[in-house]
Amino acid sequence: MKGKFLMFTVLPLMFSCGMQNENKTEDFEYNVEKFADLQILRYRVPEFEDLTSQQKELVYYLTEAALQGRDILYDQNGKYNLKIRKILEAIYMNYSGDRSKGDFKAFEVYLKRVWFSNGIHHHYGSDKFVPDFSSDFLKKAMMELPEDKLPLAENETAEDLWNTISPIIFDPEVYPKRVNQKDGEDLILTSACNYYDGVTQQEAEDFYNKMKVAGEKEPVMYGMNSTLVKRDGKIYEDVWKSGGKYGNAIDKIIYWLEQAETVAENDKQKEVIAQLIDFYKTGDLKKFDEYSISWVKDTDSRVDFVNGFIESYGDPLGLKASWESVVNFKNVEATKRTEKISENAQWFEDNSPVDAKFKKDKVKGVSAKVINAAILGGDLYPSTAIGINLPNSNWIRSEHGSKSVTIGNITDAYNKAAHGNGMMEEFAFSNVEIDLINKYADLTDELHTDLHECLGHGSGKLLPGVDPDALKAYGSTIEEARADLFGLYYMADQKLIDLKLLDSPEAYKAQYYTYILNGLMTQLVRINPGDSIEEAHMRNRQLIAKWAYENGKKDNVIEFVKKDGKTYVKVNDYEKLRGLFGSLLAEIQRIKSEGDFDAARKMVETYAVNVDPVLHKEILERYNKLNLAPYKGFINPKYELVKDENGKITDVKVTYDEGYAEQMLRYSRDYSNL
Ligand code: ZN
Repeated sequence: MKGKFLMFTVLPLMFSCGMQNENKTEDFEYNVEKFADLQILRYRVPEFEDLTSQQKELVYYLTEAALQGRDILYDQNGKYNLKIRKILEAIYMNYSGDRSKGDFKAFEVYLKRVWFSNGIHHHYGSDKFVPDFSSDFLKKAMMELPEDKLPLAENETAEDLWNTISPIIFDPEVYPKRVNQKDGEDLILTSACNYYDGVTQQEAEDFYNKMKVAGEKEPVMYGMNSTLVKRDGKIYEDVWKSGGKYGNAIDKIIYWLEQAETVAENDKQKEVIAQLIDFYKTGDLKKFDEYSISWVKDTDSRVDFVNGFIESYGDPLGLKASWESVVNFKNVEATKRTEKISENAQWFEDNSPVDAKFKKDKVKGVSAKVINAAILGGDLYPSTAIGINLPNSNWIRSEHGSKSVTIGNITDAYNKAAHGNGMMEEFAFSNVEIDLINKYADLTDELHTDLHECLGHGSGKLLPGVDPDALKAYGSTIEEARADLFGLYYMADQKLIDLKLLDSPEAYKAQYYTYILNGLMTQLVRINPGDSIEEAHMRNRQLIAKWAYENGKKDNVIEFVKKDGKTYVKVNDYEKLRGLFGSLLAEIQRIKSEGDFDAARKMVETYAVNVDPVLHKEILERYNKLNLAPYKGFINPKYELVKDENGKITDVKVTYDEGYAEQMLRYSRDYSNL
């Protein structure tokens, strides 16, 4: 967790587990396919069957609304994305040549990447894809298509269309980056994203600076829902609303929201939906704020959703919001877990190994809700966040609060998909560790996250007069270490067994082992040879693991062992390791409470930053042999209405058997609104 964090894309601890799951015989294939640097997964929607038929119907309508905006994002990501997607899909479906040949194979991968990124630039790095097929191949395949299969504008010939799109796809100089952040360049002119039309960065900044009113208490998010256009010397906003830009897609969204309104769970939720419809109809940002406030206050409904222009990472100026949607409902079982932890917050605070003067007399646990995603749409599809913290408006957050949730079934799918990826077989010391991990790691990992979020960050206090920013650049690493250590320390506590959160006194060892292994070794696969560790969460994990290793040396608590020329981590004494976590928690809390900058700097610089280049090289070599994809995304489930003989809706059926290309082609067929 971070201060003003919005939609956070926390990477799950992707190496915390990963071995054939021999104990559970589950008939569900999480891994679907892999291409380029991408792994396509599937997720389950547990507890969907437990919803009432009205709730299911509500979910159904909201999922339709979530799919209708798909084309908006393609257009936001780049002016030619939709045209290109349509051409590629037409070729894919009608190609008469040899589909097993190299050019077609490379073309197929390219199309799958375009689907994944909702455009021709990488979803994460934002660089334009380099096609592995020739421009001759594409031209020939395109020219062979009948004209009615091509997205031709009026009076446009196939040749014209080819001349337009061919440099967009093949010329590395044209639109090389979706979002350029390089200081000193005109960020708008050098970015391929399609939020500005004919304006320079200076013109856009001037336009929006003029709108802002100094000292305004409740400012709307200016510019959030429009394209800024310059025509004939005049600069104006082309607003995204019914009857305006993207109106066709927005009208479809409105239609399904209106259906949803008729089966809302309660009046509060009905109002939320009505206000969102009102915003889509008018494009009035004041109405969006009203909607956001009602949405934050609607905490009783089981079903919930996000649908709109939300995140602004795709605009180099951070003003324009990309379209996205997620429909979800509360996961009752998992939320019980977080509630149990929250209810006992004071006990955990009172019994922590921290000096009494740094403890809170009265501590309030945050009861984070766990949800199941029912569908992902727009900028959350196929690649998604695992947690949501909205709305983004600062004044609404401080005056009305925000909703913070973790998406349980997505985290679960990441975990399950990692089983059998070979990571633990390669890096775990022996079968003893692997067995522990198979039995307990999924659960202890979730529990550790709960303890970290619900208790860790909220525990302890600053001494009077201590500046909360005293630790400066080291502050976030120390803060994350504090929350992680709080979770690690209690992971081995009898209290968790008493609360029935764990059922075995052995379980915590799975978390301890994977944490140490990750902190000392496996997380290094994310950084390049020669680099040191910069990201706060990665620093915190190495800090804890290295500190425990160094300070446990005299008792040989953790050791590095060589087997067949490979390096392994072995934990020899789990009980002593818990003691070390406790001591470090006490010291980290002292540093935080006293604002001891020098100690924070020393702690971080000594343990958290530097990488042993020899070990790093070995880890990268071993990791590369596993041939794993660093980025992951999801296929959605498919929902169908079940009706009785009178046409009355009686149920909603969910199925999980659609393939990746199949789903993308269905979406393009049924939800092409632009
Ligand atoms: Zn945190």
